[in-house]
Amino acid sequence: MTAAEPEGEREGERGAAREQLPALAERRTQLLAWYRRAHRDLPWRRTRDPYAIWVSEIMLQQTRVETVLAYYDRFLARFPDLFALAAAPLDDVLAAWSGLGYYRRARFLKSAAELLARDAGGRFPRDVAAAVLLPGIGRSTAGAIVSIAYGTRAAVLDGNVKRVLARLAGLAELDGAPLEKRAWPLAEALVDCDAPGDVNQSLMELGATVCLPFAAARCEECPWRDGCRARAAGTVESLPQSRPRAALREETWLVAVVRRGSRFLLRRRPPTGLLHDLFELPAFESGSAAPDEAQCRRLLARALAAQFGGAPQIGDELLLHRQVISNRRVALRAFAVTLDTRPRPPARFATAAELRELAITTATRKIVARLRAEATRTAALSGPARARTSKRPPPPAAAS
Ligand code: SF4
Repeated sequence: MTAAEPEGEREGERGAAREQLPALAERRTQLLAWYRRAHRDLPWRRTRDPYAIWVSEIMLQQTRVETVLAYYDRFLARFPDLFALAAAPLDDVLAAWSGLGYYRRARFLKSAAELLARDAGGRFPRDVAAAVLLPGIGRSTAGAIVSIAYGTRAAVLDGNVKRVLARLAGLAELDGAPLEKRAWPLAEALVDCDAPGDVNQSLMELGATVCLPFAAARCEECPWRDGCRARAAGTVESLPQSRPRAALREETWLVAVVRRGSRFLLRRRPPTGLLHDLFELPAFESGSAAPDEAQCRRLLARALAAQFGGAPQIGDELLLHRQVISNRRVALRAFAVTLDTRPRPPARFATAAELRELAITTATRKIVARLRAEATRTAALSGPARARTSKRPPPPAAAS
């Protein structure tokens, strides 16, 4: 069902949901009482500002709370309101997002802010039907923002809420459209009250901290432990029923580590395609899942010569970093490289401070951190040895 479906049809489904979950009001009361007692104190829960809530909801998509906590306050300090975000250069926004991954979210956030600043006086919509027209905002995210910020009766069905409802009501449909068709009316029936924002936050919190995936569920702490159908049926671990996932493509990328003193050479990725426009240590797809070392060296030298000219020298292999990037499982093999040409902008050598300010890929951030840690370790190990050498006692004086 979409946000645009007729209200009569929705009301019918909500009625069916009430029958499916008897004593709905009592369940809501139990849930809210538990939330008041047990919820985590998170910065986005101390505000009703739609912009701040919107930023948190976008950051939290596919990202752990602990990670978001390191970015949220800093992002809001840099872009304190929707107008500031709309007016900021995209590079600044990507730089503030750098390390959170899934950069499309930051681009959508920025372009939606521009739309609202230009066409809506900077006001975030109060209803789901208008909010889902903005880039990067689906029905569930829209429901979270408008219910928490404005008290609009709109439901949320993110991964956590879906898991809770599937178990509570014993929904055995496959995750995805079949399960969502059953779960949306339940979620809507639950928020049909005076505190829809609190209900949504309670459901999300229950899924994030108690009704955990698979065998990690902590049913003894759950306010719904009596009456949960999955618990009664012993099917908690198997619900929701997951869809078979598409296999990730295995790839190897070759990474050039070109240093000038403590600075690293970065290039800018092309303006379209994967990780577009972000800075990175020059990285090239090898076109093969597992090339041998000689192939890696040959391919990297050829790719670097095509990009920077001259005859690049490929030195030691420094490290292997593995990361899932989009639908690929990528092995990034990093080599020390010497160039005999001067890279032209937008390629640039960046200091540690500049690396923190630039919009760089997550893989580059992690590889540079590992290289720096390795350099620090090597210096620490070699330092005392040098010290010992220098403190060697002087040779005895020659006998007179
Ligand atoms: S009783 Fe267990 S499975 Fe059921 S909703 Fe609570 S935590 Fe989830």
